[in-house]
Order: sequence, then structure tokens, then C-alpha cells
Amino acid sequence: TRMVGATIMAHGDDQGMVLPPNVAPVQVVVIPISRTDEERAAVEAALEPLEQELRTVMTASGPLRWQVDRREESPGFKFNHWELRGVPLRLEIGPRDVAAEQAVLVRRLDRAKETLSLNAIGGQLAGRLAGYQQEVFQRAIAFRAANSHEVDDYDTFKATVEERGGFLYAHWCGDSTCERQINEETGATIRVIPFESSGGPGKCLIDGRPSSQRVLFARAY
Ligand SMILES: [Zn+2]
Repeated sequence: TRMVGATIMAHGDDQGMVLPPNVAPVQVVVIPISRTDEERAAVEAALEPLEQELRTVMTASGPLRWQVDRREESPGFKFNHWELRGVPLRLEIGPRDVAAEQAVLVRRLDRAKETLSLNAIGGQLAGRLAGYQQEVFQRAIAFRAANSHEVDDYDTFKATVEERGGFLYAHWCGDSTCERQINEETGATIRVIPFESSGGPGKCLIDGRPSSQRVLFARAY
């Protein structure tokens, strides 16, 4: 996939995926926490108005995509389950939270926790998701910058793809024959033709013809 301009990439960590909220199939998962029947009843009573409110929340990518995980599993199991799938936000509600009319919002990105008043949650989620989206985007940009190399000749290009991978900024004349040769010999494809040229004109890696700017290559994984 080639894109002009900035690309957004989903990155993960050792706990699985991190998804941008605008593309996440589930943006918020609600985890009710209870040990006894009384606790469960109290939590369910608090969930009812909350669920009604969640149905009305609009986000940058349409109506809020959310669900309540009522499975008979431990909270830890559920936290892990949804973290692995990259769900941006989870809302934990236990009996003590209900008593205090609050819930705990946890971000997948950095596991930062925030206590929110139950009746304020509906009004806060869209903003929280928009901020999260922006942070994932900034991380992707920073990740790309940290893993980018500028190369000027084909031997260095091949060695860099092999040894370091990542993203390579190199000159290309615009001819699909050169692009195909690079792809066949190194597995790298052109990902981005930057809006702003980096470093000015140069010569194509393959045939030495003039190139007005570097393009971004990466190998498909
Ligand atoms: Zn060329």
C-alpha cells in the first residue's frame, strides 16, 4: 500500500496491539467487577443508566463502539483479553466505584488510570478518544523517525534492509521498472512519497537518473 503524505501505523507492545480509536472495532469495553450477588446487583443497577448514555455518544468515527464484558471470567482475564486486541479504553466498575458514583477509565496505550464520575462519563469519552487518537498518531511518527535511514546507493540500501530493516529514504526516478527491481531483490516497496522533499534532488538508486526527492521504502513483514 502506497500513500502520499503521512501514514498511520498501528503499533503494539508485549501485550499485543495498540489500535487508533478511529479504526478500533471496539473503542471502549466496560468491565463490571463483583464477587457476591449483592455486589453484582449494585453494579448492574449502575450499569443500566450508563449503557443508556453510551448509546448516545458520538465520536470522530461515528457512534461510540462499546460493549460490556459480562462473561464469567476474572477481571484480570478480561483486562488481558481486551488489551491483546488493542481496545483503546476500558471502564472498570466495581462495588466501591458504584458507592462513590464513579468508574475507573484505563488507557490501553500507557495504562494510565483516571477516575470519572459516573454521570460525566458519557460527556468525556469522545474527547478522551480524540486525544488518544492523536497520541497514537504522534507515536507512529516518532517510531518512523527513529527507525528511518537515508541511503544514497543501492549496496547500502540492500545491506540496511537486511541488517536493520525499518524505513529507508532513498532516491527513485519514478520508473516502475526500478521500483520492481528493488522490490524483487530486497523485498522493500515504496510506502510514502513525502509531501515535503527531504534533502533535495538526487539520483535513482538503480539507474542513476535524476530524482527530485527521496521516497520512503519499507519491507513488507
Ligand atoms: Zn530509476
